[in-house]
Order: sequence, then C-alpha cells, then structure tokens
Amino acid sequence: MAYAVTHIIAGILGAELISKFVIKKEIPFRYYVLSGVAGLLPDIDVLFYPVAKIAGNASFESIHRHYTHNLFIPLIFIIAALIAFRMKKENIGIAALIFALGSFTHLLLDVSLLGEIGPFFPFSEFIMGFNIAAMFDKSIIVLAGLDALLLLGWLYWKERRHV
Ligand SMILES: [Zn+2]
Repeated sequence: MAYAVTHIIAGILGAELISKFVIKKEIPFRYYVLSGVAGLLPDIDVLFYPVAKIAGNASFESIHRHYTHNLFIPLIFIIAALIAFRMKKENIGIAALIFALGSFTHLLLDVSLLGEIGPFFPFSEFIMGFNIAAMFDKSIIVLAGLDALLLLGWLYWKERRHV
C-alpha cells in the first residue's frame, strides 16, 4: 500500500510520459488533474465496502484490492485509447491513456510496496506482492520518502523541460 499522494504523483508522472513520448507536445493542465484521479482509480473499491458490509458479511480485505486491482483495468483503457485515436478523438484518447498509465502505476506501487494484488482477476485467483516497504524497520519512512522523491523528481522534470 502506498499513500494516496504517492498514487496521485505517480499518475501525474504518467501524464508527463504520455505528453513527452506519445503525444509529443504539452498537454493542458486539466489532464494533470485527471492523471491524479487516474492514479487513485483502483482504490475506488473502498467506496463499495460499506455497501457490501450492509448487504452481507463482507470483510474489508474481501473487497479492497479484489475487483479493481488487476491488469485488465489498464488494458481496457489502452483499448479505449486506441479506438479513440482511430476515431480522431484525441482528447478522449489522451484521457484514456492517462487512465491506463495511472491505474497501471497504482498496481505497480501496490504490488511492490505493501500487500498483494490479483493481477489476472477474474480469470485467476493468483495473488502476488513484493512487500518491499516491509523489509525496512520503519516502513512509514520509506513510504513518505517515496512521496518526496517522486514529487522532487516531477518538479525537476518540469524545471528541465521549461528552461
Ligand atoms: Zn490500491
């Protein structure tokens, strides 16, 4: 589990990569706002927990990271982006790419830092997680430090592109 801010910054970095290497031009600021939302998107499942708890006897673990933390989420957005670009709907294509990369970076952070995800759900119950942050005595410092490094990296990137 990475902090929400880490997911947002990773999503923003994804938008930077799309701007530089895919679109090859500056993208409007509204896409950066969208990229922050995209970075958080897979955690939308926490909103379903209260409903599931009322409807049944669902645990938080049975809801969170179960349905929205798989590789098919970014894949669906990539397919949507390809269709949009083919139909000459560039704005929708850029947004779909941002959601693809944002949700992918979310999965990458979650599977790397703490906990597990089911990358091939619903076709497989296989779960994986590297728990890198748990290897450190003070994992909270690692997680907070990652925020700082990503934010500084983004600021440095912006500074280098605009000089
Ligand atoms: Zn997550």
